[in-house]
Amino acid sequence: MSTILDRQPVAPSPAASADPVGRVGHLPYAFFEGDIVPLADARVSVATHALQYGTSAFGGIRGYRSADGQAVHLFRLRDHYRRFAASAKLLRITLPFDVEGLCALSAELTRRNGHLGEVYLRPFCYKAGLDLTPGLSGIADGFALFMLAIDGLPPLDHGLSVSVSSWQRVTDNAIPPRGKIGGSYVNASLIRDEAREHGFDDAIVLNARGKAGEGSVSNLFMVRDGTLVTPPVSGDILEGINRKAVLELAADLAIPVVEREIDRTELYVADELFLCGTRMQIAWIAAVDHRAVGSGRRGPITARLAERFEAAVRGTAPEYAHWMTRVELP
Ligand code: PMP
Repeated sequence: MSTILDRQPVAPSPAASADPVGRVGHLPYAFFEGDIVPLADARVSVATHALQYGTSAFGGIRGYRSADGQAVHLFRLRDHYRRFAASAKLLRITLPFDVEGLCALSAELTRRNGHLGEVYLRPFCYKAGLDLTPGLSGIADGFALFMLAIDGLPPLDHGLSVSVSSWQRVTDNAIPPRGKIGGSYVNASLIRDEAREHGFDDAIVLNARGKAGEGSVSNLFMVRDGTLVTPPVSGDILEGINRKAVLELAADLAIPVVEREIDRTELYVADELFLCGTRMQIAWIAAVDHRAVGSGRRGPITARLAERFEAAVRGTAPEYAHWMTRVELP
């Protein structure tokens, strides 16, 4: 399994929209220091505070080619930017725009990059000062937004093999996982690296109380006895946007839901397990620590949710049209 940024960037090409199939790479324009500029010109000093200390926060927003082929639909943009603004607040970073302004900028950059396919937007805010001391107040802030074409990303629909990580999730009192904070992705990197080195697709990480929290870059759902269970937002997890969408879909499908802690050994006896997130979408888990989950096949509740999710993001379920921001490309 790979994440969006695992892929090597391809040379920017403004004429990317002609045949998007198979493309994964950076799109040519970024927003940086107040302007839309070529991505190659969006550069920072090696002495940047965020580079030295991880004092940054980011978002990851997916855009889907519309069913009519005329536009890109950006997924739950306001939710993403509300979380981004909250992450910035945790780091005492002042953003140059409010949520509405960030949404408008994202639409504008999407138009400017002109890629009529699948896209990924990466808003990024950071301590941009060159101060060589850890801290937050009084250090200059920066903000940037860049985009990737992700048409070539393979879907994760094969049934993941995951482990329980030997690493522990950072806690709210250490580096708050509810924010998408740059430095906390050292934790995610350790978790993913170990899992992949041991031949797994990913790992489920336990929090400091020993309860199952989430994947390295995704939220965790379990089905037991017909009930969908997911850890609460107070369980040292990222407040995932796709998690929120899954909870809404479950309510609409009248699937009972409980937000509660999940024991490690519940993973071994669960009927169904899946991870969800911007990269994963809804990715079912076939085995945990080499123990088959349920029948070892995709379970019926996971399948219903995944099909509904796919219809919502592809624009074939009109009742979820409000999840998407339509950006018409010239
Ligand atoms: N947890 C972590 C640690 C993540 O990095 C991500 C990916 N952003 C998620 C969960 C899923 O969040 P989202 O649905 O917003 O992509």
